[in-house]
Formats: sequence, C-alpha cells, structure tokens
Amino acid sequence: MDPRFEKYAKLLISVGINVQPGQTLVIRCPVDKAPFARMLVSEAYRAGAREVVMRWGDQFISRETYLHAADEIFDTYRPWDADMLNTLAREGAAFLSVIGSDPDGMNGVDHTRMVRSSRVFGPAVAEYREMQMSDKIQWCIAALPEEKWAQKMYPGVSGGEAMEKLTEAIFSTMHITADNDPVAAWRAHNDALNTRKKRLTEYRFRSLHYTNSLGTDLVIELPQGHYWEGGNSRSAKGVAFNANMPTEEIFTAPKRDGVNGRVVSTKPFVIGGEIIPTFAFTFEQGKIVKVETADPKHRKMLEDEIGVDEGACYLGEVALVPYDSPISNMDTLFYDTLFDENASCHLAFGASYPTVEGGADMTEAERLAAGLNQSITHEDFMVGSADLNITGLTPDGREIPVFVNGNFAF
Ligand code: ZN
Ligand code: ZN
Repeated sequence: MDPRFEKYAKLLISVGINVQPGQTLVIRCPVDKAPFARMLVSEAYRAGAREVVMRWGDQFISRETYLHAADEIFDTYRPWDADMLNTLAREGAAFLSVIGSDPDGMNGVDHTRMVRSSRVFGPAVAEYREMQMSDKIQWCIAALPEEKWAQKMYPGVSGGEAMEKLTEAIFSTMHITADNDPVAAWRAHNDALNTRKKRLTEYRFRSLHYTNSLGTDLVIELPQGHYWEGGNSRSAKGVAFNANMPTEEIFTAPKRDGVNGRVVSTKPFVIGGEIIPTFAFTFEQGKIVKVETADPKHRKMLEDEIGVDEGACYLGEVALVPYDSPISNMDTLFYDTLFDENASCHLAFGASYPTVEGGADMTEAERLAAGLNQSITHEDFMVGSADLNITGLTPDGREIPVFVNGNFAF
C-alpha cells in the first residue's frame, strides 16, 4: 500500500480526532476499507485509546435494505442502535467516520424510505447528535478513495488510473505528500483559519448581503453574540480536533427568522443518489417559501428534504470559502459535500451549530430564542461564484466588503 496511507492514518488519529489516553474511540468505516481501518485502530491504541469500537458500513447492503426490506421497517428503529450511540457519547467517546462510496450507489432507491428512516432514528439519537453538533465531544469525518467514486469523477480513463487520480486529489486536499510532515502542515493551516475567524467575529456583523449575476440577492441576519468557527474546534474537555478533513471554511449560524431574498445554487446538489444540477430557494423571514428547479422531480425531492421536520426549511449554516481556495482551484467536482463544500461559499438548510456565546450549554428552547435553528437534518449547498459579493453590516451601520468577486476582501 502507498506509504502515504500510514501518514494519513496518523494524521486522522493525532490531528483529526486527537484521541486521548484512556478515551474510547468509535470508528465507522466501509467494510471494504478494512486494511485502512486496521491502521487507524493500531494508531489509536498507540495513542493510548482505552478501547476502539468498530462500526462497519456497507453501501451494497444498505442499498439492498432500502430496496427490498419490508416497508414498515422504515418507520421504526432498533432502540439498542440508538442507545449505543447515546451511551458512548455520554461516556465521552470520540467518533471518527471514514467515508468513500459510489455517489450513484443509491440510485433507484425510494428516497422517501430514507427520509422516513431518518425521521424516526434522528430524534432517537438526539442526545448523541446534540453533543456532536455543539462540539462537546470530538468527532471527525474524512474520506478514502473508492473505485466507483473515482470513475464517476474521472470518466474517460481506466479504473486504475481514476483511482490514482482520486487518491492524489484526496492527499493533495489533506496536505499529505511523500516527504512532508502533514501534522505540521495542518497546524499551520489551522492557525491561518483561526486568525480569519477571529477577525470576522470582531466585526459582530448584524447581517450579510449576498449578490451575484446568477440572480442571488439574499440578506442573512446573524444572531447577536454569534462567533465564527473554522479550522479546529475544542471539545467540552478542551481537546482540539478537526471535525471535517479537509476543511477550508469559516462558518457561523444565521438568524433563524432573519433570512430574506433569493439564492441560486452554483454546484450540483447530490441527494439520495440523484444529482440536482442547480436550484434556487426564495426565503421570507427565514423560511424557504419557494423551490425552483429545472426538473419537477428534483423540486419534489428538495421539498421532501426541507419538509422532514419543522426546522428543515430554515437555514442552519453560513460558510465562507474563497473562490480561489486550493480545493476550488482544483476545479474538480467530488460529488461529495465533505470536499465540494470546501470549494465554494455555502449555506445549509437544517440544524445550526450553536455558534453564539454560551450556545453549547443552552437548552433547545434557549437556542431557538437566540435565533439558532433546530432540525434533524443539515444539508450544505453551494452558492459561491467568481462574481459573488458579500457586504457585512456592522452594529453601528457601517457597510464592510467581506467578499469581492468571490474572494475575501481582507
Ligand atoms: Zn460547511
Ligand atoms: Zn454544513
């Protein structure tokens, strides 16, 4: 195996999840990536992990289940599945997820079955989800190359060559080369993002106004006391970790009922095995009141997604990524949000991260009152373009250019 995978495993264990001596680590990984999972397990024990709990996944089996299992099972869940996640989170475990699967692997599956499943399982794991969303526990998501995924990204070349290209692309976004120290590279990268997020927080913007030539004209108010996140986070115990690798974004939460105007997406939105090339949302007082797509089938899919619960049709994330970010400059569509969100300014509908002062310790009702959206879903969609301008309005009424022509103005 390529020796860079060893470095990658070390990087995920020491910087990504940063497992602590005596801590339990939960690893989720596709079963066909077992050799890499084994490296992660060895590294975790080397770092002093108390126990590594494996959760294997398999896209083929998930697909078979969604296609052929009895219909009523999608309205129920196994209490012990939910209990496992809630208990481990309560005990202070860290959660590392390795992804990498066929973007079309769920094609043909009845999308409403997936929606129904998450509608019952989502609330059952509210405790775990909330500890993750508020960064109380360490969590990290990263990806491994996979053959069908590679062929989708690089059609026209042989399977082996496509895998090589995807492997290169992943290592490049992860700052891993044959002869560097990726841990040091990530330290510098996190420092740069941390500096920018501090600066944005200091402006205490009341709102951001997005415009571009595609027809985006959107005002997003930000809650009082909001702060910007990015780079690495700290758990309730003060342990630094990178929730998403790679990462290029700086983000905060919008004010739930303070979003007005229209936004046009700028990159394909992948959902339930279907690719929606472009769409537009119109907002009134925070709520999505109109969905536009070229294909009515896609409109229905989006409407299902934003109808999954009461909060799903409100925004939960405002993220800034320069049009000239390294991942954007690769000009490669990964068909996976983990990467594609780092190539473009984006928004998410659904739950917000509690990025207001004291937010992590607020009750659900207090968060709502602070303007933070709640939902069982959280889906990023891309809105960045080469001509995107974003103007911030400060509490004393000054207009500050934040983005000019797709990039940070400062
Ligand atoms: Zn994001
Ligand atoms: Zn997001």
